[in-house]
Amino acid sequence: MDLEKTLLHKVGEAIHRFKMIRDGDRVAVALSGGKDSATMLEALLLLQKRAPIDFSVVSFTVEQGKFLRPIEPIGEYLKQRGIPWTYFRDDPSMRLLEEQPDHGCDLCSRYRRRAVYEIARDLGVNVIAFGHTADDFCEALLRNTMFTGRLSSLPPVTWSRNKDYRLIRPLCFVTEDITTAYAESMGVPVIPCGCSQRTGTVRRALRDMFAELEREHPHLKETMLSAMGNVDTSRLLDPRFLNVEAETEAHELFPIVTEM
Ligand code: SF4
Repeated sequence: MDLEKTLLHKVGEAIHRFKMIRDGDRVAVALSGGKDSATMLEALLLLQKRAPIDFSVVSFTVEQGKFLRPIEPIGEYLKQRGIPWTYFRDDPSMRLLEEQPDHGCDLCSRYRRRAVYEIARDLGVNVIAFGHTADDFCEALLRNTMFTGRLSSLPPVTWSRNKDYRLIRPLCFVTEDITTAYAESMGVPVIPCGCSQRTGTVRRALRDMFAELEREHPHLKETMLSAMGNVDTSRLLDPRFLNVEAETEAHELFPIVTEM
């Protein structure tokens, strides 16, 4: 299957399965400067032409002072292609960077979220699309399981707190080998973020672990994605999903011998 067909098939499947986009929606694509969100924008524009429903697409980028190169090439690329783009320099994020240069991801994301909602309100959209990929979903599943004690990944679709915006992740089935190849084939300018080059992080360790395992098991992430859609709650330890009473009855039928 060619690259574009594979991409559209996977994005289409996500949109359909999780009812991400509906008739009359106005979708804002969050462009991070990377290959993933740029690929997502292209996919949504292609699907927009083919879909039986009517929806519009705009794009925006939040400047938080982390880009390693000027962002202008993205603006030029989008302008040439006639895609509406808003560049938003978030002053509170810039101040945060100055005052607390070592701030973590939690604070950074909180600032970004506030800025994103502000832009979305100005743009008059009701849906915001984020470029998290299948790789991000797999990493989040392992990270949450190993470090937060929750068996969870990322929501493919959710709502902002006041339900003003539907938040969607149409690349949840798309792995980064696809976004890398597609962005390259389209000649999309990629503006790296300083954080993506950090070493010694949990994220980097998980990425390295995947790379190592995938040498022997190339379909590892696809299998993990299937697992996330095929949960066997009877083989986990959460009593909310277990029929504990029935288990008790079974033990009464077959009592465990504890004394000789
Ligand atoms: S990786 Fe960098 S840009 Fe991303 S949330 Fe963390 S601090 Fe912010």
